[in-house]
Amino acid sequence: MYNITLIPGDGTGPEIAEAAKRVIGATGVPIQWDIQEAGIEVFEKEGTPLPQRVIDSIKKNRVSIKGPVTTPVGTGFRSVNVTLRQTLDLYCCLRPSRTFRGVRTRFDHVDLIIIRENTEDLYAGIEFAKGSEGAGKIIGLIRELTGKSIRPDSGISIKPISVFGSERIVRFAFEYARKNNRKKVTAVHKANIMKYSDGLFLETAKDVAKRYPDIEFEDRIVDNMCMQLVQKPELYDVIVLPNLYGDIVSDLAAGLIGGLGIAPGANLGEEYAVFEPVHGSAPKYKGLNKVNPLAMILSGVMMLRHLGEFAAAERLETAIASVVEEGRHVTYDMKPLPGDPTAATTSQMADAIIGKLI
Ligand code: NAD
Repeated sequence: MYNITLIPGDGTGPEIAEAAKRVIGATGVPIQWDIQEAGIEVFEKEGTPLPQRVIDSIKKNRVSIKGPVTTPVGTGFRSVNVTLRQTLDLYCCLRPSRTFRGVRTRFDHVDLIIIRENTEDLYAGIEFAKGSEGAGKIIGLIRELTGKSIRPDSGISIKPISVFGSERIVRFAFEYARKNNRKKVTAVHKANIMKYSDGLFLETAKDVAKRYPDIEFEDRIVDNMCMQLVQKPELYDVIVLPNLYGDIVSDLAAGLIGGLGIAPGANLGEEYAVFEPVHGSAPKYKGLNKVNPLAMILSGVMMLRHLGEFAAAERLETAIASVVEEGRHVTYDMKPLPGDPTAATTSQMADAIIGKLI
């Protein structure tokens, strides 16, 4: 019996989490779910969106699957996702983007592995609000150290990138490439402009690459990378990026394979693993039983493989492919025309997948 922490999240999270729980349960893999609420409603009740009990549960069970959680823009609490990744040192965000049989996309054969650093960069959470004492001190210090002036009405976000953080994420990318028979790793950066943060990431990546002569290595500047990916994604294989570019490029890659509704992900560290869809809480669809549960179910497939349940993962993937290929019991986002009245609900799509599990 596996003990797994299930965090339903908020917005549409609980609907897709319930669908994923039922589908994963139907594979027959014995799982005891430890359900832990987190998110915006928990914040209203408990004064924090991420109570310590949630962290403790993941620490105890070591493996978790989570629905999306809303992060208020500009004000309010810090992102639950960023806090989880930092607290549990889930330094790697692994997001495969593969064309799924039967999904309508502009490209037929996309097979990209996006590996995003998860703990550093502009997501480190070191920020100073406009007009705050901290912002004033930083502005003064920068003037003293560099002679450069920053407007006094500026907000400031700090972008730390370390050799340690870059090394381990690039090493992860090469190890992943080796284990999964991939041929090339591409490091993405903006080192021409940010010489001491992205430049350090690139130099570290080049050093790590020397230890993997069996795998091709190249680098791309992030803006060029975006253009190349939407033009010729087949040229790329494993892509490793600092946190912010990784966030943006993985949504871009999700778009190449048919949208956020089918893009799964995993946050991995040395000790813990948290599986979650790439997409957010899509709050406008909350409670409508409408959104696509596949991203969360496919995150569950990644989780089953992580647990060593390869046969169950394979069976589940085959069942999903069959439902998608038939195209009858799929949610609105997978139908050819918008507003199709035959679109399946979240729970109907989960039922159809369960029906195909053999
Ligand atoms: P979002 O991913 O929630 O939704 C953007 C659009 O993508 C939706 O309007 C919808 O059209 C589509 N979409 C998303 N999920 C879908 C699904 N399962 N099926 C079909 N279509 C789907 O992005 P957003 O609106 O920018 O963010 C909403 C909230 O989620 C924000 O508070 C954001 O901070 C948060 N967020 C959380 C996570 C996470 O928990 N890991 C990730 C990203 C965003």
